[in-house]
Amino acid sequence: MAYSLLNFSAIQDFMQSQPLTIDAVTHRYGATAAVDGVTLEMKAGELVALLGPSGCGKTTLLRIIAGFIRQTEGRVIVGGEVIDPLPPHRRTVGIVFQNYALFPHMSVAENVAYGLAARGAPRAEQQERVREMLDLVKLSAMADRLPRQLSGGQQQRVALARALAVRPSILLLDEPFAALDKNLRLDMQIEIKRIQRAAGTTVIVTHDQEEALSMADRVAVLNEGRLEQFDAATRVYDEPGSFFVNTFVGSANVLPCEVATVSNSLATVRLDGGGTMTGKLAAPLGVGSRARLCVRPEHLRFVDGDDGLPGLVEIGLPMGASLIHEVRLATGQAIKVAQARQAGAQPLPPGSTVRLTPISPDAPRLHPIS
Ligand code: ATP
Repeated sequence: MAYSLLNFSAIQDFMQSQPLTIDAVTHRYGATAAVDGVTLEMKAGELVALLGPSGCGKTTLLRIIAGFIRQTEGRVIVGGEVIDPLPPHRRTVGIVFQNYALFPHMSVAENVAYGLAARGAPRAEQQERVREMLDLVKLSAMADRLPRQLSGGQQQRVALARALAVRPSILLLDEPFAALDKNLRLDMQIEIKRIQRAAGTTVIVTHDQEEALSMADRVAVLNEGRLEQFDAATRVYDEPGSFFVNTFVGSANVLPCEVATVSNSLATVRLDGGGTMTGKLAAPLGVGSRARLCVRPEHLRFVDGDDGLPGLVEIGLPMGASLIHEVRLATGQAIKVAQARQAGAQPLPPGSTVRLTPISPDAPRLHPIS
């Protein structure tokens, strides 16, 4: 990026970072548990992404932290203090909503001052902070405009300025980049990452796995209100702890199978319909157990000779830096194989006979059928 959308000299030591703990939080809407027994301990200054499909409880959890929803059970702790009794405006939390939620009839400056006014800050302090914040997001020239007179990216920066104006110890971002076009989205992702490096504990809600994996120090993967895994972004991808995480984060070919041998954490399986493969156990599994082998397309390679699973190439796609082939196995199942593409390399023609093997015996992951 050639220039910065934010003024970083203004942001050093700006947020007073605090650790955040979600302690056994459950929230029910009637009989449905939108958040179900979630515990997360976030370090001061960490950037954590809450990742999961639509309806998994991400926004509900964020609103509980902000104080807009009072959870049915459990506690929220900031810097060692249980904040549950505090209303939103008494919490040191800044929030940027999915649709920015700027007040349409208020000017940019009034929007940024809103949280300070709600906290009863003296007028002079409000004006000083608004000036500082608009300088930070480089929108000082637009202080008197109404939100509808700004572009989407500018509105997003106003929303960020409004959240930061209260000097939060926790910054919450709910799908903050969803409405931005691709380039601006990348710029803002980099900017947020820089802000967070400068100090604050930041929680981003997203259903975009690339966003979560690229931005977050740690990713919390949620499914139907429950926490599936909370780990470093690379571990969530490389060592998925459950079938859900394995197939939701990144892509994976799923091969139904039966466990044939087990040695430490490595197993050999008989694939349904024929053939064998090895895989690393994601959970304890005995010989004879039914299981699902998940193997990522980039963890498969073509081999010469008689080893490996036989198949027929159905389609090959040269996708810039990678080559993707869809291969029909003898079992009838189609699986994807991804390789780095060398300059000039063409995909194999449809109908080519190939044999497939994992790049290493422990690359595929073996999950129990729950
Ligand atoms: P999205 O990515 O679509 O925003 P989400 O992961 O943020 O989804 P939530 O908005 O937290 O999910 O919703 C979790 C569950 O709670 C969903 O099943 C939703 O339908 C339900 N829910 C949310 N708000 C309410 C409400 N006010 N009353 C009843 N049910 C609700």
